[in-house]
Order: sequence, then C-alpha cells, then structure tokens
Amino acid sequence: MSEVDGIGMTSQRSRNRLVDSLREMGIKSEKVLEVIRTVPRHLFVDEALASRAYENTALPIGYGQTISQPYTVALMTEALCDSGSMKKVLEIGSGCGYQTAVLAQVSRLVFSVERVKGLFAKTDQRLRALKILNTRLKHGDGFEGWAANARYDAILVAAAPVSLPSKLIEQLSLGGRLVIPVGRSGKQELRMYVKTSNGVVEKCLESVSFVPLLDGLR
Ligand code: SAH
Repeated sequence: MSEVDGIGMTSQRSRNRLVDSLREMGIKSEKVLEVIRTVPRHLFVDEALASRAYENTALPIGYGQTISQPYTVALMTEALCDSGSMKKVLEIGSGCGYQTAVLAQVSRLVFSVERVKGLFAKTDQRLRALKILNTRLKHGDGFEGWAANARYDAILVAAAPVSLPSKLIEQLSLGGRLVIPVGRSGKQELRMYVKTSNGVVEKCLESVSFVPLLDGLR
C-alpha cells in the first residue's frame, strides 16, 4: 500500500497507542490489530481531522455520515475473521472506505455498496489512489445486497436497519456469516448470523451505536 507520509513518527506513536487501547478493550486477533496499525486512517478523513485519525472515535465524513470508530471496525472484522472463510466479502455502507480497506487486507475480494453517490465516487477514487485494488464498489441500496456476485463468505453492515434485511441472509454461502447492527437509534445491538445446513444461527455480540441503514438512493 502506498502512503502519503505527512504525519511521520507522531503518527506511528499514535497508531501504536490506538492498537494498545483496542487490545485493552478486548480485541485479541493480532492479525486484525496489525491491520489497524498499518491502514492509514488519516488518509480517509478530511485533512483538518487527520490529526485525530488515530483516536478511537467516529469522525464526520460529510453527508451527515461518520467513519466508524476503530474499535467497532476491529470488533466486526475480528468476529468475521475468527469464524470462517474470508475469500469473498460484501460490505454495506462503504462510507469513506476505511472499513473497506481493512477488509481488503484480510480477504481476497471485497465488494462494497454505498447509497450516497458523492461518497461512492470519492471513496472509489481514494481506494484506487491508495492502490487497494481487490475492492469493487457500487452506488446502490444495501438492503438489496449485491446479488450479481453472491454468494459471500462474509457480509459486514456498517449502518443499522430496524430489522434484519432478508436479502443479505440469502446472499450468504453455506458457512457464511453476517455481522450487522440491528435496532433503532439508542438501542442497537451488534449481531452475528451464521448460515448452517440446519438454518440460520443468531448470536448477540454487544450494544452499539451506528447511523441508520436508510432506504432509497441519494
Ligand atoms: N464503514 C464506513 C462507515 C460509514 S457510516 C466508514 O468507515 O467510513 C455508514 C454508511 O452507510 C454511510 O456512508 C451511509 O451513507 C451508508 N448507508 C446507509 N444506508 C445505506 C444503504 N441502504 N445502502 C448502502 N449504504 C448505506
């Protein structure tokens, strides 16, 4: 991955600090922690916010959306990596592409759908500029998934629907996992659904706070 290095050692120190705090918060996968340490989060936010890029917080990315908190990105990525194959992955809600870039380090091919056209276009360009080439983006409605490339080993949803979108379960392969926040603002929980030969198994991971998964394109 090429990297514009304007932040230097300060950035290395703050990245290590971020990884230390994620470890303290319970992230155990060394593979995921290493990905968080190396993906340049400061290149996914506005220059004015770059100095805060290695804090464990969500930050604005325009259009009323936020880049997910590093802890949440690590938690969802770890849950998927620890539970099975990651060859073909679908992400719903590309946003600024940070989670997409993280997934690209642990899978062969990542498909990602974003409903806001302006974010889609900017993020598609950004990932190419960073030479993250095993990703395919589309401007579309995540409630529909991305049927043309189904089925997926893993699906990660970065915005919360009120109830589980059935099309996403359909697009999972056997043994596939879906990690998704579900519920209204203020009472969402992060859930993992596993598709088995005996049906779909649901597990609750923890309480979370995401922007809503919205209907219709913008
Ligand atoms: N992983 C992203 C998170 C962005 S926030 C990042 O780190 O930047 C969630 C994103 O989901 C927003 O960009 C929002 O526009 C998008 N989104 C909301 N509803 C959607 C839908 N129905 N289909 C696709 N994307 C959606």
